[in-house]
Amino acid sequence: MKTYWQNYIDGAWVDGGAGRVDIINPGAGEKLAEQALADAGDVDRAVMAATRLHHSGALSDLRPVERGRMVQAMGRYLLEHIDQIAPVLTLEQGKPLWEARIEVEGAARYFEYYGNQAETVEGRSIPLGKDYFDFTLYEPFGVSAQIIPWNYPVEMTARSLSAALATGNTCVIKSPELTPLSIAWFASAAEAAGFPAGAVNILCGWGHEAGAALSAHPHVNQIVFTGSVPTGVAIASAAALNVVPCVLELGGKSAAIVHDDADLDAFETDVRWGIYFNAGQVCSAMSRVIVHESLHDALVERMVGVAQSLTVKPGIEQPEFGPTMGAMVSEPQRDRAARMVSDAQAQGAHVATGGHKLNRAGAFLEPTIVSGVTPDMTIANEEVFGPVLSVLRFSTDEEAIRIANGTPYGLVGGVFTRNLDRATSAARRLRAGQVFVNEWYAGGVETPFGGYGKSGYGREKGREALWNYVQTKNVAIRLRG
Ligand code: NAD
Repeated sequence: MKTYWQNYIDGAWVDGGAGRVDIINPGAGEKLAEQALADAGDVDRAVMAATRLHHSGALSDLRPVERGRMVQAMGRYLLEHIDQIAPVLTLEQGKPLWEARIEVEGAARYFEYYGNQAETVEGRSIPLGKDYFDFTLYEPFGVSAQIIPWNYPVEMTARSLSAALATGNTCVIKSPELTPLSIAWFASAAEAAGFPAGAVNILCGWGHEAGAALSAHPHVNQIVFTGSVPTGVAIASAAALNVVPCVLELGGKSAAIVHDDADLDAFETDVRWGIYFNAGQVCSAMSRVIVHESLHDALVERMVGVAQSLTVKPGIEQPEFGPTMGAMVSEPQRDRAARMVSDAQAQGAHVATGGHKLNRAGAFLEPTIVSGVTPDMTIANEEVFGPVLSVLRFSTDEEAIRIANGTPYGLVGGVFTRNLDRATSAARRLRAGQVFVNEWYAGGVETPFGGYGKSGYGREKGREALWNYVQTKNVAIRLRG
């Protein structure tokens, strides 16, 4: 594996004006490689390269089917290189190798989907009487700035990049300073697919330096941000000053409501995915379970069983799908999650299992279940972003919804019941951008995703996402014979 990774600006691999940062393998607690760090000058060069290409019309003037084919080719490139990308993703981020492969496959699926969608973006003709001819165009914004978090670097980049390119925008990606390496393959994918220099620029840099410079750059025309609420606020403020639109995909504190008529065997499987996939570092993680009081003890026992069945070890030692979990992304992140568990205990919650750091090098935390959580506790309201599930109890359906809706977030929600009326009623009343009934993470690239409340605004995935990347132009023609 390369020991030094550069940024990619205007079709060339370059050093960064802000020096380098060590990339740490959280599964071993050791240095993995060095990454070039961009400064504001590098950001400016990338944005101006993207601007020149946009103004040339080389992407926006293409027939959509041609752009769509190039976008799809990028996805195929990722799959062809999965054996190289997935281990790097595992080594920099900590997730099991089998999960990293799922992430790369998921990323490729975005390019397949939005490559197909490129041809579907079409305007209408609006009748204005015999003396007029009126039509509508959907045009790319121009330069799309995409600021990426460390939890799913490959998938999050794919999510915005595929839709932005399919609609004819040029892109500047700001990769996360903890996990920038696996994103480098998007540059070679774009080249292999025939995108000209300037269409895809990738730079890593500190958030407060490169990220801030990118979000405030006067030639950026649209911003997509995935990350934490405070950063989202800073980016939206910068976007407002330049009057450019932005999409904010922020955090969550999502809850699964488990009714007394739920299929508990199915739910048990979902606990494994819902909170321990990617060691719980998922914006839409099932971080709270709100369970009917009659089931509480039996369900906690089952969930403890799931947590204790997992083997926790370095992701690179986990090539095959199985009951395993990897490291968290970094030791500070792991320490923060562990602290939230002990704080919950101090506030009166019960640690049913886990909560301890593993006695080995790396950022490992035991799969954890905290029961006896009440809605007023910090752990019931703040995102842990780790393998920690909080269990709360309810007695009436009303109370369950009230607890679920009781945080400022609103990313996803879940309801587990065999009663269709109950499920439908909960789906309407949950204040969340997506509701899962009887399967956590149901849905796919085709289904729109995004937040209510402090979880953000705008939608990614599905056809809805396309409208983030185009602006409407109406053309009204007076016919004069
Ligand atoms: P973060 O906000 O700290 O960083 C995200 C990105 O923003 C990084 O690239 C960082 O360098 C950059 N950044 C930081 N400060 C900046 C600034 N002032 N200006 C511009 N850019 C700046 O978030 P994180 O810790 O990397 O990711 C975890 C968070 O992301 C969690 O809250 C999680 O829920 C959220 N997330 C949301 C989704 C979603 O789709 N809703 C998906 C994944 C993660």
